[in-house]
Amino acid sequence: MQTDVLIVGGAAVGSAAAYFLASQPSFKGKVLVIEQDPTYEKSATALSAASIRHQFSTPENIRLSQFGSHFLKTVDEHLSVNGEVPAIGFKERGYLFLATPQGLDILQANHLTQRAEDVDVSLLTPAQLQSRFPWLNVDDLSAGSLGNSGEGWLDAYALMQGFRRKAQSLGVQYRQARVEALHREGRRVTSVRLSTGELITCGTVINAAGTGATALAQSAGISLPVQARKRSIFFFTSNARLDSCPMVIDPSGAYFRPEGEGYLCGIAPSPEQDPECHDFEVQHSLFEEVLWPLLAARVPGFEALRLQRSWAGHYDMNLLDHNAILGAHPDVDNFLFANGFSGHGLQHSPAVGRALSELVTFGEFRTLQLDAFGWGRVIAQRPLHEINVV
Ligand SMILES: Cc1cc2nc3c(=O)[nH]c(=O)nc-3n(C[C@H](O)[C@H](O)[C@H](O)COP(=O)(O)OP(=O)(O)OC[C@H]3O[C@@H](n4cnc5c(N)ncnc54)[C@H](O)[C@@H]3O)c2cc1C
Repeated sequence: MQTDVLIVGGAAVGSAAAYFLASQPSFKGKVLVIEQDPTYEKSATALSAASIRHQFSTPENIRLSQFGSHFLKTVDEHLSVNGEVPAIGFKERGYLFLATPQGLDILQANHLTQRAEDVDVSLLTPAQLQSRFPWLNVDDLSAGSLGNSGEGWLDAYALMQGFRRKAQSLGVQYRQARVEALHREGRRVTSVRLSTGELITCGTVINAAGTGATALAQSAGISLPVQARKRSIFFFTSNARLDSCPMVIDPSGAYFRPEGEGYLCGIAPSPEQDPECHDFEVQHSLFEEVLWPLLAARVPGFEALRLQRSWAGHYDMNLLDHNAILGAHPDVDNFLFANGFSGHGLQHSPAVGRALSELVTFGEFRTLQLDAFGWGRVIAQRPLHEINVV
Protein backbone atom coordinates (compact mmCIF):
# COMPACT_ATOMS: atom_id res chain seq x y z
CA MET A 1 0.00 0.00 0.00
CA GLN A 2 1.09 3.57 -0.64
CA THR A 3 0.04 6.96 0.76
CA ASP A 4 1.23 10.54 0.39
CA VAL A 5 0.99 11.38 4.09
CA LEU A 6 0.92 8.85 6.89
CA ILE A 7 0.00 10.13 10.35
CA VAL A 8 0.89 7.93 13.32
CA GLY A 9 -1.65 8.58 16.10
CA GLY A 10 -5.17 9.79 15.47
CA ALA A 11 -6.01 11.64 18.69
CA ALA A 12 -6.21 15.46 18.96
CA VAL A 13 -2.96 16.33 17.20
CA GLY A 14 -3.01 13.61 14.55
CA SER A 15 -6.66 14.16 13.69
CA ALA A 16 -6.23 17.95 13.64
CA ALA A 17 -3.36 17.53 11.17
CA ALA A 18 -5.49 15.16 9.08
CA TYR A 19 -8.37 17.65 9.02
CA PHE A 20 -6.22 20.66 8.11
CA LEU A 21 -4.45 18.73 5.37
CA ALA A 22 -7.69 17.48 3.87
CA SER A 23 -9.18 20.97 3.89
CA GLN A 24 -6.05 22.66 2.49
CA PRO A 25 -6.90 23.64 -1.11
CA SER A 26 -3.26 23.44 -2.23
CA PHE A 27 -2.82 19.89 -0.94
CA LYS A 28 -3.97 17.19 -3.34
CA GLY A 29 -2.54 14.02 -1.78
CA LYS A 30 -3.87 11.00 0.08
CA VAL A 31 -3.83 10.98 3.90
CA LEU A 32 -3.82 7.84 6.02
CA VAL A 33 -4.04 7.88 9.84
CA ILE A 34 -2.82 4.82 11.71
CA GLU A 35 -4.30 4.65 15.22
CA GLN A 36 -3.68 1.65 17.45
CA ASP A 37 -6.68 2.21 19.72
CA PRO A 38 -9.88 3.71 18.32
CA THR A 39 -11.37 3.85 21.85
CA TYR A 40 -8.62 6.38 22.72
CA GLU A 41 -8.91 5.04 26.26
CA LYS A 42 -5.32 5.81 27.23
CA SER A 43 -4.66 8.80 25.02
CA ALA A 44 -3.71 12.03 26.77
CA THR A 45 -6.45 13.70 24.77
CA ALA A 46 -9.24 11.65 26.34
CA LEU A 47 -7.77 11.88 29.86
CA SER A 48 -6.85 15.56 29.91
CA ALA A 49 -8.24 18.44 31.94
CA ALA A 50 -9.32 19.86 28.57
CA SER A 51 -8.60 23.50 29.33
CA ILE A 52 -7.24 26.35 27.28
CA ARG A 53 -5.42 29.47 28.37
CA HIS A 54 -3.65 32.37 26.76
CA GLN A 55 -1.58 32.98 29.87
CA PHE A 56 1.79 31.56 28.82
CA SER A 57 5.21 33.14 29.15
CA THR A 58 6.31 32.30 25.58
CA PRO A 59 4.77 34.43 22.78
CA GLU A 60 4.57 31.41 20.44
CA ASN A 61 2.55 29.43 22.99
CA ILE A 62 0.21 32.39 23.41
CA ARG A 63 -0.34 32.57 19.64
CA LEU A 64 -1.03 28.84 19.41
CA SER A 65 -3.71 29.20 22.08
CA GLN A 66 -5.19 32.33 20.53
CA PHE A 67 -5.79 30.44 17.31
CA GLY A 68 -7.08 27.52 19.40
CA SER A 69 -9.81 29.51 21.10
CA HIS A 70 -10.76 31.28 17.87
CA PHE A 71 -11.14 27.83 16.31
CA LEU A 72 -13.23 26.55 19.22
CA LYS A 73 -15.53 29.56 19.05
CA THR A 74 -16.10 29.04 15.33
CA VAL A 75 -16.05 25.24 15.40
CA ASP A 76 -19.33 25.09 13.46
CA GLU A 77 -17.61 26.72 10.46
CA HIS A 78 -14.84 24.11 10.47
CA LEU A 79 -16.01 20.77 11.76
CA SER A 80 -19.70 20.45 10.87
CA VAL A 81 -20.55 17.29 8.96
CA ASN A 82 -23.97 17.18 7.24
CA GLY A 83 -25.05 20.14 9.35
CA GLU A 84 -24.06 18.43 12.62
CA VAL A 85 -21.74 20.51 14.81
CA PRO A 86 -19.49 18.66 17.30
CA ALA A 87 -20.73 19.36 20.86
CA ILE A 88 -17.42 20.60 22.23
CA GLY A 89 -19.14 22.64 24.99
CA PHE A 90 -16.53 25.39 25.12
CA LYS A 91 -16.97 27.29 28.39
CA GLU A 92 -15.16 30.61 28.21
CA ARG A 93 -14.75 31.17 31.93
CA GLY A 94 -11.10 32.24 32.19
CA TYR A 95 -7.98 31.22 34.08
CA LEU A 96 -6.97 32.92 37.32
CA PHE A 97 -3.25 32.67 38.15
CA LEU A 98 -2.61 33.63 41.78
CA ALA A 99 0.69 34.96 43.12
CA THR A 100 2.18 35.39 46.59
CA PRO A 101 4.87 38.07 47.08
CA GLN A 102 7.50 35.56 45.85
CA GLY A 103 5.69 34.99 42.58
CA LEU A 104 4.69 38.59 41.90
CA ASP A 105 7.64 39.52 39.65
CA ILE A 106 7.01 36.55 37.38
CA LEU A 107 3.28 37.23 37.22
CA GLN A 108 3.98 40.85 36.27
CA ALA A 109 6.62 39.90 33.68
CA ASN A 110 4.22 37.38 32.13
CA HIS A 111 1.52 40.05 32.12
CA LEU A 112 3.72 42.34 30.02
CA THR A 113 4.47 39.52 27.56
CA GLN A 114 0.78 38.66 27.36
CA ARG A 115 -0.40 42.25 26.90
CA ALA A 116 2.17 42.69 24.12
CA GLU A 117 0.44 39.74 22.42
CA ASP A 118 -3.02 41.31 22.90
CA VAL A 119 -4.09 38.81 25.51
CA ASP A 120 -7.28 39.97 27.24
CA VAL A 121 -5.94 39.66 30.78
CA SER A 122 -6.20 41.81 33.93
CA LEU A 123 -3.95 42.01 36.97
CA LEU A 124 -6.11 42.20 40.09
CA THR A 125 -5.13 43.33 43.59
CA PRO A 126 -6.10 41.16 46.57
CA ALA A 127 -8.99 43.58 47.30
CA GLN A 128 -10.25 43.27 43.73
CA LEU A 129 -9.89 39.49 43.89
CA GLN A 130 -11.85 39.39 47.12
CA SER A 131 -14.68 41.49 45.79
CA ARG A 132 -14.91 39.48 42.56
CA PHE A 133 -14.48 36.05 44.16
CA PRO A 134 -15.75 36.31 47.77
CA TRP A 135 -15.16 32.56 48.24
CA LEU A 136 -11.37 32.93 47.76
CA ASN A 137 -8.88 33.30 50.60
CA VAL A 138 -6.57 36.15 49.51
CA ASP A 139 -4.68 36.63 52.79
CA ASP A 140 -1.29 35.49 51.46
CA LEU A 141 -1.72 36.85 47.91
CA SER A 142 -0.13 39.84 46.20
CA ALA A 143 -2.06 39.66 42.94
CA GLY A 144 -4.03 37.52 40.52
CA SER A 145 -4.03 37.47 36.75
CA LEU A 146 -7.46 36.87 35.25
CA GLY A 147 -8.14 36.01 31.62
CA ASN A 148 -11.26 37.89 30.54
CA SER A 149 -11.87 36.09 27.27
CA GLY A 150 -10.59 33.24 25.12
CA GLU A 151 -9.74 30.96 28.05
CA GLY A 152 -11.78 28.15 29.54
CA TRP A 153 -12.48 24.46 29.02
CA LEU A 154 -14.22 22.09 26.68
CA ASP A 155 -15.01 18.47 25.89
CA ALA A 156 -11.67 17.21 24.59
CA TYR A 157 -13.06 13.92 23.35
CA ALA A 158 -15.74 15.72 21.33
CA LEU A 159 -13.14 18.00 19.74
CA MET A 160 -10.96 15.04 18.78
CA GLN A 161 -13.91 13.12 17.35
CA GLY A 162 -14.96 16.29 15.54
CA PHE A 163 -11.55 16.50 13.84
CA ARG A 164 -11.67 12.80 13.03
CA ARG A 165 -15.19 12.78 11.61
CA LYS A 166 -14.59 15.89 9.52
CA ALA A 167 -11.28 14.54 8.22
CA GLN A 168 -12.99 11.30 7.23
CA SER A 169 -15.77 13.22 5.49
CA LEU A 170 -13.04 14.92 3.44
CA GLY A 171 -11.53 11.61 2.36
CA VAL A 172 -8.95 10.82 5.06
CA GLN A 173 -8.64 7.09 5.77
CA TYR A 174 -8.23 5.76 9.34
CA ARG A 175 -6.75 2.31 9.98
CA GLN A 176 -6.59 0.49 13.29
CA ALA A 177 -3.05 -0.85 13.76
CA ARG A 178 0.11 -0.16 15.66
CA VAL A 179 3.05 1.29 13.75
CA GLU A 180 5.91 -0.96 14.85
CA ALA A 181 8.79 0.69 13.05
CA LEU A 182 9.82 3.20 10.42
CA HIS A 183 12.20 2.22 7.65
CA ARG A 184 14.71 4.90 6.83
CA GLU A 185 17.06 5.21 3.89
CA GLY A 186 19.48 8.10 4.32
CA ARG A 187 17.55 11.33 4.67
CA ARG A 188 14.12 9.76 4.08
CA VAL A 189 11.64 7.50 5.80
CA THR A 190 10.51 5.26 2.98
CA SER A 191 7.92 3.02 4.64
CA VAL A 192 6.33 2.04 7.92
CA ARG A 193 5.72 -1.45 9.24
CA LEU A 194 2.39 -2.13 10.96
CA SER A 195 1.59 -4.64 13.70
CA THR A 196 -0.27 -6.59 11.01
CA GLY A 197 3.06 -7.08 9.21
CA GLU A 198 1.99 -4.82 6.35
CA LEU A 199 4.45 -2.31 4.89
CA ILE A 200 3.12 1.06 3.76
CA THR A 201 5.26 3.32 1.60
CA CYS A 202 4.72 7.01 2.18
CA GLY A 203 5.76 10.46 1.05
CA THR A 204 5.69 12.10 4.48
CA VAL A 205 5.27 10.67 7.97
CA ILE A 206 3.85 12.74 10.84
CA ASN A 207 4.67 11.58 14.35
CA ALA A 208 1.56 12.40 16.42
CA ALA A 209 1.93 9.38 18.68
CA GLY A 210 1.92 11.21 22.04
CA THR A 211 3.92 9.20 24.55
CA GLY A 212 4.48 6.58 21.82
CA ALA A 213 6.47 9.13 19.80
CA THR A 214 9.85 8.39 21.34
CA ALA A 215 9.89 4.69 20.39
CA LEU A 216 8.77 5.59 16.89
CA ALA A 217 11.54 8.17 16.50
CA GLN A 218 14.05 5.65 17.86
CA SER A 219 13.13 3.18 15.13
CA ALA A 220 14.26 5.83 12.62
CA GLY A 221 17.47 6.42 14.54
CA ILE A 222 16.35 9.69 16.16
CA SER A 223 16.54 10.36 19.87
CA LEU A 224 13.48 12.35 20.95
CA PRO A 225 13.80 13.79 24.48
CA VAL A 226 10.20 13.02 25.41
CA GLN A 227 9.07 10.75 28.24
CA ALA A 228 5.73 9.76 29.75
CA ARG A 229 4.80 11.47 33.02
CA LYS A 230 1.77 10.48 35.01
CA ARG A 231 -0.76 13.14 36.04
CA SER A 232 -3.78 12.35 38.22
CA ILE A 233 -7.06 14.24 38.11
CA PHE A 234 -9.65 14.23 40.89
CA PHE A 235 -13.34 15.08 40.62
CA PHE A 236 -15.17 16.14 43.78
CA THR A 237 -18.44 17.72 44.84
CA SER A 238 -18.92 20.31 47.54
CA ASN A 239 -21.76 22.38 48.96
CA ALA A 240 -19.59 25.48 48.63
CA ARG A 241 -20.99 27.95 46.06
CA LEU A 242 -18.21 29.38 43.92
CA ASP A 243 -19.93 31.94 41.72
CA SER A 244 -18.14 32.76 38.42
CA CYS A 245 -15.38 30.30 39.25
CA PRO A 246 -12.63 30.28 36.59
CA MET A 247 -9.82 27.72 36.30
CA VAL A 248 -7.83 28.71 39.40
CA ILE A 249 -4.06 28.14 39.48
CA ASP A 250 -2.87 28.34 43.07
CA PRO A 251 0.69 29.57 43.78
CA SER A 252 1.44 26.01 44.97
CA GLY A 253 0.73 24.67 41.46
CA ALA A 254 -2.58 23.10 42.50
CA TYR A 255 -5.43 23.82 40.10
CA PHE A 256 -9.21 23.48 40.23
CA ARG A 257 -12.14 24.40 38.04
CA PRO A 258 -15.86 23.68 37.84
CA GLU A 259 -16.96 20.57 35.95
CA GLY A 260 -20.63 19.65 35.75
CA GLU A 261 -22.03 19.47 39.29
CA GLY A 262 -18.60 19.51 40.90
CA TYR A 263 -14.96 20.42 40.43
CA LEU A 264 -11.85 18.97 38.81
CA CYS A 265 -8.50 19.41 40.46
CA GLY A 266 -4.90 18.27 40.19
CA ILE A 267 -1.28 19.08 40.89
CA ALA A 268 2.02 17.89 39.43
CA PRO A 269 3.95 15.65 41.82
CA SER A 270 7.31 16.95 43.04
CA PRO A 271 10.16 16.21 40.58
CA GLU A 272 11.58 13.45 42.80
CA GLN A 273 8.17 11.70 42.80
CA ASP A 274 7.72 12.12 39.07
CA PRO A 275 9.70 9.40 37.27
CA GLU A 276 8.99 8.14 33.77
CA CYS A 277 5.85 6.12 34.16
CA HIS A 278 3.77 3.67 32.14
CA ASP A 279 1.01 2.60 34.54
CA PHE A 280 -2.30 4.36 35.03
CA GLU A 281 -2.69 3.93 38.80
CA VAL A 282 -4.06 7.12 40.36
CA GLN A 283 -1.71 8.72 42.89
CA HIS A 284 -4.35 8.84 45.64
CA SER A 285 -1.94 10.15 48.26
CA LEU A 286 -1.64 13.34 46.20
CA PHE A 287 -5.27 14.18 46.91
CA GLU A 288 -5.32 13.34 50.62
CA GLU A 289 -1.93 14.67 51.58
CA VAL A 290 -1.28 17.51 49.16
CA LEU A 291 -4.27 18.73 47.19
CA TRP A 292 -7.08 18.79 49.68
CA PRO A 293 -5.15 20.81 52.29
CA LEU A 294 -4.14 23.30 49.57
CA LEU A 295 -7.70 23.57 48.24
CA ALA A 296 -9.17 24.06 51.71
CA ALA A 297 -6.61 26.76 52.47
CA ARG A 298 -7.50 28.61 49.26
CA VAL A 299 -11.27 28.08 49.41
CA PRO A 300 -12.48 27.59 52.98
CA GLY A 301 -15.73 26.11 51.60
CA PHE A 302 -13.67 23.15 50.31
CA GLU A 303 -12.94 21.96 53.85
CA ALA A 304 -16.05 19.85 53.28
CA LEU A 305 -15.99 17.97 50.00
CA ARG A 306 -16.66 14.51 48.65
CA LEU A 307 -14.19 12.87 46.30
CA GLN A 308 -16.28 11.20 43.59
CA ARG A 309 -13.81 9.76 41.10
CA SER A 310 -10.29 10.09 39.77
CA TRP A 311 -8.14 9.00 36.86
CA ALA A 312 -4.57 9.23 35.63
CA GLY A 313 -3.24 10.07 32.20
CA HIS A 314 0.19 10.49 30.63
CA TYR A 315 1.82 13.74 29.57
CA ASP A 316 4.34 13.58 26.74
CA MET A 317 6.94 15.57 28.66
CA ASN A 318 9.71 17.32 26.75
CA LEU A 319 12.63 16.92 29.14
CA LEU A 320 14.55 19.82 27.61
CA ASP A 321 12.11 22.68 28.04
CA HIS A 322 8.47 21.58 28.43
CA ASN A 323 7.60 22.86 24.98
CA ALA A 324 6.47 21.17 21.81
CA ILE A 325 8.94 19.82 19.25
CA LEU A 326 7.49 20.68 15.89
CA GLY A 327 8.73 19.96 12.38
CA ALA A 328 11.39 17.88 10.66
CA HIS A 329 14.62 16.63 12.22
CA PRO A 330 17.58 18.11 10.32
CA ASP A 331 18.76 14.60 9.33
CA VAL A 332 15.44 13.36 7.88
CA ASP A 333 13.47 15.46 5.41
CA ASN A 334 10.09 13.76 5.35
CA PHE A 335 9.50 12.85 9.01
CA LEU A 336 7.60 15.60 10.87
CA PHE A 337 7.31 15.70 14.65
CA ALA A 338 4.53 17.14 16.81
CA ASN A 339 5.42 15.89 20.25
CA GLY A 340 6.46 16.85 23.76
CA PHE A 341 3.50 19.13 24.49
CA SER A 342 4.08 18.70 28.24
CA GLY A 343 0.48 19.24 29.24
CA HIS A 344 -0.78 21.82 26.75
CA GLY A 345 -1.24 19.91 23.53
CA LEU A 346 -5.00 19.78 23.46
CA GLN A 347 -5.46 23.55 23.33
CA HIS A 348 -2.68 23.79 20.75
CA SER A 349 -4.01 21.01 18.55
CA PRO A 350 -5.89 23.28 16.10
CA ALA A 351 -2.89 25.55 15.51
CA VAL A 352 -0.43 22.65 15.42
CA GLY A 353 -2.64 20.73 13.00
CA ARG A 354 -2.73 23.76 10.73
CA ALA A 355 1.03 24.24 11.06
CA LEU A 356 1.69 20.61 10.11
CA SER A 357 -0.55 20.94 7.06
CA GLU A 358 1.55 23.96 5.99
CA LEU A 359 4.82 22.11 6.48
CA VAL A 360 3.56 19.23 4.33
CA THR A 361 2.05 21.42 1.64
CA PHE A 362 4.52 24.31 1.40
CA GLY A 363 7.59 23.07 3.24
CA GLU A 364 7.32 26.07 5.60
CA PHE A 365 5.03 27.73 8.14
CA ARG A 366 2.61 30.15 6.50
CA THR A 367 0.32 31.53 9.20
CA LEU A 368 2.16 31.40 12.53
CA GLN A 369 5.97 31.42 12.62
CA LEU A 370 6.75 28.44 14.83
CA ASP A 371 10.44 27.86 14.10
CA ALA A 372 11.15 28.41 17.81
CA PHE A 373 9.63 24.95 18.42
CA GLY A 374 11.93 23.29 15.88
CA TRP A 375 14.63 20.68 16.42
CA GLY A 376 17.35 23.37 16.23
CA ARG A 377 17.10 24.28 19.89
CA VAL A 378 16.90 20.60 20.91
CA ILE A 379 20.09 19.70 19.09
CA ALA A 380 21.85 22.82 20.37
CA GLN A 381 20.48 22.03 23.88
CA ARG A 382 19.20 25.62 24.04
CA PRO A 383 15.90 25.38 25.95
CA LEU A 384 12.94 27.56 25.04
CA HIS A 385 11.70 27.74 28.60
CA GLU A 386 7.99 28.04 29.29
CA ILE A 387 7.59 29.25 32.87
CA ASN A 388 3.82 28.89 33.06
CA VAL A 389 3.61 25.09 33.07
CA VAL A 390 0.57 23.80 34.98
C1 LIG B 1 -3.99 14.51 33.09
C2 LIG B 1 -3.74 15.38 31.90
C3 LIG B 1 -4.28 16.67 31.88
C4 LIG B 1 -4.09 17.48 30.75
N1 LIG B 1 -4.67 18.71 30.72
C5 LIG B 1 -4.57 19.46 29.59
C6 LIG B 1 -5.25 20.70 29.50
O1 LIG B 1 -5.97 21.11 30.40
N2 LIG B 1 -5.11 21.41 28.36
C7 LIG B 1 -4.32 20.97 27.32
O2 LIG B 1 -4.20 21.68 26.33
N3 LIG B 1 -3.66 19.80 27.39
C8 LIG B 1 -3.77 19.04 28.50
N4 LIG B 1 -3.12 17.85 28.58
C9 LIG B 1 -2.21 17.47 27.51
C10 LIG B 1 -2.96 17.01 26.31
O3 LIG B 1 -3.91 16.05 26.69
C11 LIG B 1 -1.99 16.44 25.28
O4 LIG B 1 -0.90 17.33 25.09
C12 LIG B 1 -2.67 16.22 23.95
O5 LIG B 1 -3.89 15.57 24.12
C13 LIG B 1 -1.73 15.44 23.06
O6 LIG B 1 -2.45 14.95 21.96
P1 LIG B 1 -1.76 13.94 20.99
O7 LIG B 1 -2.73 13.66 19.92
O8 LIG B 1 -0.41 14.44 20.65
O9 LIG B 1 -1.46 12.66 21.91
P2 LIG B 1 -2.42 11.56 22.52
O10 LIG B 1 -3.74 12.11 22.89
O11 LIG B 1 -1.65 10.85 23.59
O12 LIG B 1 -2.63 10.58 21.32
C14 LIG B 1 -1.59 9.79 20.77
C15 LIG B 1 -2.28 8.68 19.99
O13 LIG B 1 -1.29 7.96 19.30
C16 LIG B 1 -1.62 6.60 19.35
N5 LIG B 1 -0.37 5.85 19.15
C17 LIG B 1 0.75 5.92 19.91
N6 LIG B 1 1.72 5.15 19.40
C18 LIG B 1 1.20 4.57 18.29
C19 LIG B 1 1.74 3.67 17.33
N7 LIG B 1 3.00 3.23 17.41
N8 LIG B 1 0.94 3.26 16.32
C20 LIG B 1 -0.35 3.72 16.21
N9 LIG B 1 -0.89 4.58 17.10
C21 LIG B 1 -0.12 5.00 18.11
C22 LIG B 1 -2.24 6.41 20.71
O14 LIG B 1 -3.08 5.27 20.76
C23 LIG B 1 -3.02 7.71 20.89
O15 LIG B 1 -4.36 7.61 20.49
C24 LIG B 1 -3.31 17.00 29.67
C25 LIG B 1 -2.78 15.71 29.68
C26 LIG B 1 -3.01 14.90 30.77
C27 LIG B 1 -2.45 13.51 30.78
